[in-house]
Amino acid sequence: MTAPRVETETLRRLPKAVLHDHLDGGLRPATVVELAAAVGHRLPTTDPDELAAWYYEAANSGDLVRYIATFEHTLAVMQTREGLLRTAEEYVLDLAADGVVYAEVRYAPELNTDGGLSLAEVVETVQEGLAAGMAKAAAAGTPVRVGTLLCGMRMFDRVREAADLAVAYRDAGVVGFDIAGAEDGFPPADHLAAFEHLRRESVPFTIHAGEAHGLPSIHQALQVCGAQRLGHGVRITDDIVDGKLGRLAGWVRDRRIALEMCPTSNLQTGAATSIADHPITALKDLGFRVTLNTDNRLVSGTTMTREMSLLVEQAGWGVEDLRTVTVNAVKSAFLPFDERRALIDDVILPGYAAAL
Ligand SMILES: [Zn+2]
Repeated sequence: MTAPRVETETLRRLPKAVLHDHLDGGLRPATVVELAAAVGHRLPTTDPDELAAWYYEAANSGDLVRYIATFEHTLAVMQTREGLLRTAEEYVLDLAADGVVYAEVRYAPELNTDGGLSLAEVVETVQEGLAAGMAKAAAAGTPVRVGTLLCGMRMFDRVREAADLAVAYRDAGVVGFDIAGAEDGFPPADHLAAFEHLRRESVPFTIHAGEAHGLPSIHQALQVCGAQRLGHGVRITDDIVDGKLGRLAGWVRDRRIALEMCPTSNLQTGAATSIADHPITALKDLGFRVTLNTDNRLVSGTTMTREMSLLVEQAGWGVEDLRTVTVNAVKSAFLPFDERRALIDDVILPGYAAAL
């Protein structure tokens, strides 16, 4: 399959929707440097360009300890009201500059309490920062709507507390829930009580599954816990042989379960071997509800425009394919149905029509 080459500037202008992007993985390098100095946190380097390169190299090292260390340095500057306000506001502005019109940001409030903020204060402060960013982006003529997914860390014991927060703040900008952290060894069903609570409260959730672990993790996430989407889900390909779908893969495709796929991140963690061979292309062609995402923009050195560009350059994608995954993302957004329809009809489709 060959598609005409699409210029990066065209890609940047296309309206985008991102469902899977971590707040603590998307800081500006210069902001990390400034905030670290303010709180006395020691970084590998205080030069923003060198720091960006350090993140990218650490993420690509294949060394899990180095990869995890990258989040220590971003989280270190996200323990105060000032740090959270600034990083949340800049998060929104950076998405707007990348052409994103709808985003769901996720983070685990339990990782932001070292400076003495309560879980509720963390959530309220992040919402304040996101709202400030949305107001500035709208004033600049690049409106972006950002909903929040609260995460529990699956290897710790505060998942139920995080779920309670998602219920408590559902009318204050929180649109759903997730569990993050090491997938291998920490199956979704460990937190079944939290997910049952969310289902009783009608709060939608996605689950990181099928990234570091395979089909059993995906099966638990969907059929035991009741997730409405899958974080990554790349390993669903284990249930597809010569284009024939097994029962679980059939469930994912036929029930329109969104796969929140993150190509660059998947290369770094070993969940995929190359952009050209990343399962996102085959799954899209098989009719799965595939979505394109960044996961961690600073740590992976990426943006939505860059992810699109990689697929165009290395996997033969055209603008129509990018439109498909963008519409898919909005269809599976944790937004009311009428608002999803309006976003697709009034923003996404006209934006692509103008570019085609
Ligand atoms: Zn993730």
